[in-house]
Amino acid sequence: MPVNKTPILYMIDTSAFQGKTAAYYTLGCKLNFSETSTFGKMLQELGVRTAQKGERADICLINTCSVTEVADKKCRQQIHRMVRENPSAFVVVTGCYAQLEADEVAKIDGVSLVLGSDEKANLIQFLSDAWTGARDGSVSSRESGSAFFRKKTKDIKSFAPSCSRGNRTRYFLKVQDGCDYFCTYCTIPYARGFSRNPTIASLVAQAEEAVSEGGKEIVLTGVNIGDFGKTTGEHFINLVKALDGVEGIRRYRISSLEPDLLSDELISYCAQSRAFMPHFHIPLQSGSDTVLKLMHRHYDRQLFADKIHRIKELMPDAFIGVDVMVGCRGETPECFEETYEFLKALDVTQLHVFPYSERPGTSALNIPYVVSEKDKKLRSKRLLDLSDEKTIAFYQHHIGLEAEVLFEKSTRGRAMHGFTRNYIRVELSPKEADPAMDNQLVNVRLGELTADKQSLKAILL
Ligand code: SF4
Repeated sequence: MPVNKTPILYMIDTSAFQGKTAAYYTLGCKLNFSETSTFGKMLQELGVRTAQKGERADICLINTCSVTEVADKKCRQQIHRMVRENPSAFVVVTGCYAQLEADEVAKIDGVSLVLGSDEKANLIQFLSDAWTGARDGSVSSRESGSAFFRKKTKDIKSFAPSCSRGNRTRYFLKVQDGCDYFCTYCTIPYARGFSRNPTIASLVAQAEEAVSEGGKEIVLTGVNIGDFGKTTGEHFINLVKALDGVEGIRRYRISSLEPDLLSDELISYCAQSRAFMPHFHIPLQSGSDTVLKLMHRHYDRQLFADKIHRIKELMPDAFIGVDVMVGCRGETPECFEETYEFLKALDVTQLHVFPYSERPGTSALNIPYVVSEKDKKLRSKRLLDLSDEKTIAFYQHHIGLEAEVLFEKSTRGRAMHGFTRNYIRVELSPKEADPAMDNQLVNVRLGELTADKQSLKAILL
């Protein structure tokens, strides 16, 4: 019997799905995790159960990433593994690697269907059609090779809405997809297409739905979130204000914002908002203006420093995470030292360090200066050590203070974890951990660092 379900599902042959099992595997970013989780939810509504560990699935869905060479390799390994472990499953591969290397993926033995980034928005429909076709012989099945659907980058226009609860307490709300920036080292604009977004009204409705399911915290995800509004003529700041008004959502975090799009107006709004947390994640990539130019980034280090100062002026306790790429082409030892010194002097909390990976088709490959793998490792290590110093100092600064923590589910007999408003990870001993505290906001006093230095101990008040 066909079902009618907007905006994505329409005319699905539900009988093909009922009683079946599915296995999922996601590689890459929060956006991918959020999308996979949404696909899982949609399949569940069609009567598909998630396969238990060790149980063979009827459908396998692999949502891939292509951010580095290593990511590509992991995707291939996972596809092979899922095919091997689920010998008669209908195997669907989508995501960035599927978009960029559709022909390669389609050649992998056992893959039934490859869907590019535009097709992803209608994944369940494609799956239904292809699966039904495979059964009646009109569409290729794994015995006769896989079918693949992929549009050119410029034609990727669809938006797959997604708001899903991760493994933890938080919801991930996809507010934007694609990117128009074309930084010289990055393949994401080729894999996900140009910047696009749904309306503010539809996102508010999704946040309200999360409230109805008991959600208290939402992380706004996207590729270049600050660019929100390209499709609808709206502005990111207005989205923030509208979401802030959704009663029941107690906390919002913004997963990442390009520094040039982090406006002073937005910083000021967050400083006095009801539910946007004093927590920022900003990609710097390099603290050398020479390298930033080679990367075609849209700012210089002065602008970045100004944004950090502005945040700290208004929110002295804000947690600021910073992405840094090391060893990209053109990063001489002097450029790296500039980055190191810049970050050392900057009042930020944590560094997310990524070694540069050569990506086919990117213009960074035209830059002649190449950094050896050995130097990339050494540079990563120095920045990671600097990151640890900064995070520990930030945590120590909060010892003895009272804080509100949103606790997350834990296994019985184990410690419970949660986060403060400004993203300090807090640990409650197994003795005091109580399942009733899952997804609850609890006031605690922040104690000393845990032995692994990853959290502060919580003392219940
Ligand atoms: S802003 Fe740059 S690094 Fe980020 S997704 Fe766009 S092109 Fe890639």
